[in-house]
Amino acid sequence: MSPLPAHTPSSPRLLRHLPSRLAIAIALCLPATAIAAPAADDSPAPAPPRTGAGEGAGIVDVLVTVGTMFEGTEADGPFNPVAAKVDYGTAINTFGGGGMREHEGQDMFAPEGTRLIAPVATKVLETGSDGGRGNWAALYDKERDRTYVYMHMLEPASVKAGQKLDGGGKVGLLGCTGSCDGAHLHFEIRAGADPYGAPSDPLAELKRWETLPSG
Ligand SMILES: [Zn+2]
Repeated sequence: MSPLPAHTPSSPRLLRHLPSRLAIAIALCLPATAIAAPAADDSPAPAPPRTGAGEGAGIVDVLVTVGTMFEGTEADGPFNPVAAKVDYGTAINTFGGGGMREHEGQDMFAPEGTRLIAPVATKVLETGSDGGRGNWAALYDKERDRTYVYMHMLEPASVKAGQKLDGGGKVGLLGCTGSCDGAHLHFEIRAGADPYGAPSDPLAELKRWETLPSG
């Protein structure tokens, strides 16, 4: 278990804003236990303030934790499209289907009804309810010039073509409509502003993106 891996990419930004974030933390008067770092600590009860060699790392953990709380409201992401703990399945669920089938995305298993969100600021290209895709949506990420496709959603997408979304904005709910075996999000990354553009393997990025709490 590695402590807070998803937060690493935003560290430079956090460091730039350290003074304001520290001020926010102080202004909130959060008890130390509320912002204590959850990682790399096996003590079962709230620990006393750390001292000695671990102190520096502890302060950084707290600042990253507090910073992350506010990153969420800043809606910049990138966030994992599934707002829950994700099971990425087996080889057959990966891009390329482990060589066993044609599969142009990554399957992401989580409980039915889990909120699905935009990873970053995007514009809705197209939505639909048809065939193997079930309820689906395609979001265009202008900054990276690529399209994120969501399939098998529980209900028709909660967004419409042309609508703009912030990172973390709701796209729909995880389900199992269309050609689907077990509730999951089928997630694709395709080149350009095109739900049918050249696909690429999203798994490495998905694992780096921050997971927002469900609900
Ligand atoms: Zn799939």
